[in-house]
Amino acid sequence: MTSDELKALVRTVPDFPSAGILFRDITTLVADPRGLAGAIAQLARLAPSDVAAVAGIEARGFIFGAALAAHLGCGFVPVRKAGKLPVPTIGVDYALEYGQARIEIDPTLIAAGRRVLLVDDLIATGGTALAAAQLLREAGAQCDHALFVIDLPELGGAARFRAAGLRADALIAFAGH
Ligand code: AMP
Repeated sequence: MTSDELKALVRTVPDFPSAGILFRDITTLVADPRGLAGAIAQLARLAPSDVAAVAGIEARGFIFGAALAAHLGCGFVPVRKAGKLPVPTIGVDYALEYGQARIEIDPTLIAAGRRVLLVDDLIATGGTALAAAQLLREAGAQCDHALFVIDLPELGGAARFRAAGLRADALIAFAGH
C-alpha cells in the first residue's frame, strides 16, 4: 500500500474539536483491512532493529503501537493520561495550545538502557511526543526515535523533535493545521 493510498483513507473533519481545527481522523484508515496492515508494515520498515519495546501514546497511539509491537515481536508499554494506571507511576506535565496536560507510565515496565520506540498517530506541535520521550528516558529507557502515521509539518513538531536530537519519521503529511 502506498503513502498516497494510506493518505486517502484518513478522514478530515473540519472544526473538531474546536473551530478552525482540521481533525485528521485515522478511524477510517484502521477500519480498512488493507489500511491497518499497510500502515503497520510501513511503520515496521522504519523501526530500528534493536527495539526492546514499543511505547504508544493514549489513545490512538495504542492502536498503531500495539499492532506494531506484535508485528516486531516485542512488548508494548502504554503512555497513559493522568490517573488511569492502577499502580505507582511517574509522570510529566506539558503545555498544550490551551492549558496543560499530564502523561504517566508505570516505570517498572521499562528495562533500563533498552531501546523503546515511541509511536503515535499524529505529530502536530510535538509537545506530547517530546514529553513522552522525556518520561521514557526518566524511567531509564533509551528513547531517541518516534514514528507517526501523520505529520503536520507546518506545526513544527517533527522539526522540534529533531532539534532536540531525536529522530522522527512519519508515513504521510498534511499541509496546514
Ligand atoms: P502535539 O502534542 O501538538 O504534537 O499533538 C499531538 C497529539 O494531539 C496526538 O496525540 C494527536 O492524536 C493529537 N492531534 C493534534 N492535532 C491533531 C489533528 N489536527 N488531528 C488529529 N489529532 C490531532
